[in-house]
Amino acid sequence: MTDPTAPTTPFRFNLDIEGYVCAAEAELPNQAISLTEFLPLVWKLQDALLGIWTQLNESEGNTVSCRAGCGACCRQLVPISEIEALHIKEVIQALPETDRERVLGRFAQAQDRLAEAGILEALGNLTDMSLDQKRQIGFDYFAVKVPCPFLEAESCSIHSVRPSACREYLVSSPPAHCASLNGDSIAMLRHSAKFSSILFSFFDGEGNAKPKIVPLITASIPTDGNPQLSQHYYAPTLFQNFLNRLAVLFSQVT
Ligand code: SF4
Repeated sequence: MTDPTAPTTPFRFNLDIEGYVCAAEAELPNQAISLTEFLPLVWKLQDALLGIWTQLNESEGNTVSCRAGCGACCRQLVPISEIEALHIKEVIQALPETDRERVLGRFAQAQDRLAEAGILEALGNLTDMSLDQKRQIGFDYFAVKVPCPFLEAESCSIHSVRPSACREYLVSSPPAHCASLNGDSIAMLRHSAKFSSILFSFFDGEGNAKPKIVPLITASIPTDGNPQLSQHYYAPTLFQNFLNRLAVLFSQVT
């Protein structure tokens, strides 16, 4: 557990976003932290970058249509990293008992419906699927119409700690297109902040591991646990490692 009274250290870095060089500074714990404790730092950087990309898109006439209370995308298959799957377990565990039982009940109900539809087992192989297979299982999943267990009155009940995949799913098309999963008519926001793709490989603390993808809907299921997930790393080193992977991601943006 991070000691909130432990000293922090400023970490300065530059980000080049389509020729705009942004000088940034992060205040990092001056101590070793776990990978789940690292997630809030990752999300803070991702949200800041997505804010910049939102402005860039708006200057091109593409206004984000995502709004609080619109859960149109929350019946889609959400791919998360093993780190975030562990974090989801921690989030559920920390809920008051009645809330925990309600959320776990929704997970179980959703998993039963996916099993009845014959796709729960296949979801366990998401990592090794081809792009076409991932697209197909995404449609199959959506056809079952299972809401995310954290969706309350069409709003995310874990908004501040929602996974990267949820943060980076931003559209400029009408919500109805997300609700019908009409792939051709969904206009995704153009951005380079697909942090989920880094996190899939970041369970080694460097981002060099073979990616592992977990469907959010199975995150409640107990697993043997990846021993690498219990390691602790010096926070500034972890952050530098993440920035190194981000530099690769930025260079891949066209
Ligand atoms: S975690 Fe929140 S934003 Fe993500 S799918 Fe679930 S309800 Fe929607």
